Amino acid sequence: MNQISMLIGGERVAATGGATFERRNPLDGQVATRAPAATPADAVKAVEAAQKAFPAWAEMGPGQRRALLLKAAEALEAKAPAFAEAVASETGGSALWSGFNVHLAAGMLQEAASITTQINGEVIPSDVPGSLAMAVRQPAGVVLGLAPWNAPVILGVRAVATPLACGNTVVLKGSELCPATHGLIIEALQEAGLPPGVVNFVTNAPPDAGPVVEAMIAHPAVRRVNFTGSTRVGRIIAGVCARHLKPAVLELGGKAPLLVLDDADLDAAVNGAAFGAFANSGQICMSTERIIVDASVADAFVAKLSAKAQGLPLGDPRKGPVVLGSVVDMGTVERCNAMIDDALAKGATLVCGGKADSTLMPATLLDRVTPDMTIYHEESFGPVKPIVRVNGTDAAVACANDNAYGLSAAVFSRDIAKAWNVARRIHSGICHINAPTVHDEAQMPFGGVKESGYGHFGGRAGIESFTDLRWITMQTTDRHYPF
Ligand code: NAD
Repeated sequence: MNQISMLIGGERVAATGGATFERRNPLDGQVATRAPAATPADAVKAVEAAQKAFPAWAEMGPGQRRALLLKAAEALEAKAPAFAEAVASETGGSALWSGFNVHLAAGMLQEAASITTQINGEVIPSDVPGSLAMAVRQPAGVVLGLAPWNAPVILGVRAVATPLACGNTVVLKGSELCPATHGLIIEALQEAGLPPGVVNFVTNAPPDAGPVVEAMIAHPAVRRVNFTGSTRVGRIIAGVCARHLKPAVLELGGKAPLLVLDDADLDAAVNGAAFGAFANSGQICMSTERIIVDASVADAFVAKLSAKAQGLPLGDPRKGPVVLGSVVDMGTVERCNAMIDDALAKGATLVCGGKADSTLMPATLLDRVTPDMTIYHEESFGPVKPIVRVNGTDAAVACANDNAYGLSAAVFSRDIAKAWNVARRIHSGICHINAPTVHDEAQMPFGGVKESGYGHFGGRAGIESFTDLRWITMQTTDRHYPF
């Protein structure tokens, strides 16, 4: 069992009164982690520690910040075995998934290190004689990052890496479902030697999330909020941020379509669909959640995808390598089982897999899914994926856009120009041609549209999200005034 602390102002601390909460393993119910249950007052202390550390961190030269972030990337990678153990015990994720998380998260810290010297502004021609006018990017202040459990290392690091690179200090609020995994990120940052208070870490019991988060958002020192999680909670966070006039980056749910057009390379499409649908048991915001196939190739495609899905190894990730580990909780099993019942009752066919009675869920495909079925519209966020048959490219695009979400998408076609024009018509922040819906790189502009949220992480877009853009002028000659 992991026993973890919070980090406030460089000190490892418990919550007021020593209150704690437990995270249990989803498969056997054993206590995986005991973590501090912060009060709103504890959370405010973390914000104040970040506020105190802000001026010196903001003034630190980019080379020094870069060196610290590069060290943090190394420290994070060195913890790969500890992450594998924590991910398997807290959220049931496979070693494959944990390893991928650590690798990409270390890349995010390296990319953040590299942008420290790229936070530039511009000189803008002024109509006032002798006025040198500049647009200057400056650190915003304290950034509050709220990260979920499903890609725990990537999303915990993402919540803080670019904000830190831009000269902000941060508070990370860990997920109640993976406090030890998020705690390891904080350990890596601390080991790298970031000054006390630059990074702070708060954990809370599930029922306290609302008041703990609101206390931090309301604090005047918090100048930016980023939240990765469900659209339901994203709406709550957006409302609290609006009341306190705090800008937010919201990375929310998804229902990514993967389009297989009539001229697609079916083997490539099958590989992309299987990876996108079943990596981390389908619990990724970019997971392929709708497989939209041209009817003329559907029989051949479904047969190949079914064979591939049935060959994916499933089991307890603590006992050996698997592709499908445990899903995060029985709530996921119940939601997916209900979606299977609903779809079958309304005329879908079960291609492979089926209902589960434990968190070890098989790769499941439902064919001939139609708009009256729940799984057509709603995130399964599990390894249960619908196939929708359509006639022609326009119908495929219409189906792709027939959804409230808009995060990732994919199009498979041998005609690259056709695929490009389809990609342009899809309402999503991200779209990949002849590649899976699940794809993230630290330097790319990552963000969604519609109910998938707003704002971006990654590369230059991340700099824009986590700095203030200021207009500063310098009058270099006598200024003319009308009176
Ligand atoms: P969730 O929204 O249920 O929980 C996220 C966090 O919200 C929790 O840690 C909790 O502390 C906090 N929270 C809960 N109630 C709150 C309240 N009233 N006020 C303030 N905070 C509150 O999400 P989850 O189940 O942990 O994650 C899964 C969801 O996240 C899926 O919908 C998935 O698509 C989405 N997601 C999106 C991205 C992205 O980049 N767009 C990435 C990963 C996951």
